[in-house]
Amino acid sequence: MEGEGFKIAMSGLDGGRINIGAASLGGAQEALERALGYVNEREQFGQPIASFQATQFKLADMETELDAARLMLYRAASALDTGHPQKTKYAAMAKRLATDVGFSVANQALQLHGGYGYLRDYEVERLVRDLRVHQILEGTNEIMRVIIAREQSRFGVSA
Ligand SMILES: Cc1cc2nc3c(=O)[nH]c(=O)nc-3n(C[C@H](O)[C@H](O)[C@H](O)COP(=O)(O)OP(=O)(O)OC[C@H]3O[C@@H](n4cnc5c(N)ncnc54)[C@H](O)[C@@H]3O)c2cc1C
Repeated sequence: MEGEGFKIAMSGLDGGRINIGAASLGGAQEALERALGYVNEREQFGQPIASFQATQFKLADMETELDAARLMLYRAASALDTGHPQKTKYAAMAKRLATDVGFSVANQALQLHGGYGYLRDYEVERLVRDLRVHQILEGTNEIMRVIIAREQSRFGVSA
């Protein structure tokens, strides 16, 4: 429709943001699985590093946060499918959370690999680099906050 082009172009970004969030989730899931495998193989002080509670707590938080981001992405995808009035806010919230959590999980997976995590021989180094850009692509995460704040002024906050 004439005069509606900008609005239509902008609405296409909601799906793109959900896509980027989903890509972050996938990469972070891979990093988490690799970290879980590595901590059971690597031994220090005569035991697998998986036996240290600090390692277990880290892995527990990584999965918990990843799962929260996954559920938020599912809501955003469902809102987009059904044309929910707050679909733009849900997509921005999900992109912001999933890409921040995705990067953080990959970065912690690298940390759990110690010095090997920094080497290219191990896949986690690449995952950290790949996931970092998701905080910038399809609108930076600062711009996601601008969108969320704008939508809050239109609809109030979600209950
Ligand atoms: C690998 C890669 C692939 C890309 N592929 C594509 C593509 O296929 N198609 C495409 O269109 N674009 C693509 N881009 C561009 C990408 O979408 C932009 O880099 C991104 O939207 C940020 O814009 P910018 O780089 O101009 O940053 P700027 O807008 O210059 O932002 C610089 C900093 O200022 C902050 N900032 C800017 N405005 C505000 C504000 N109002 N409030 C608070 N903070 C603000 C930003 O958050 C950021 O931290 C790609 C970028 C990369 C790195």
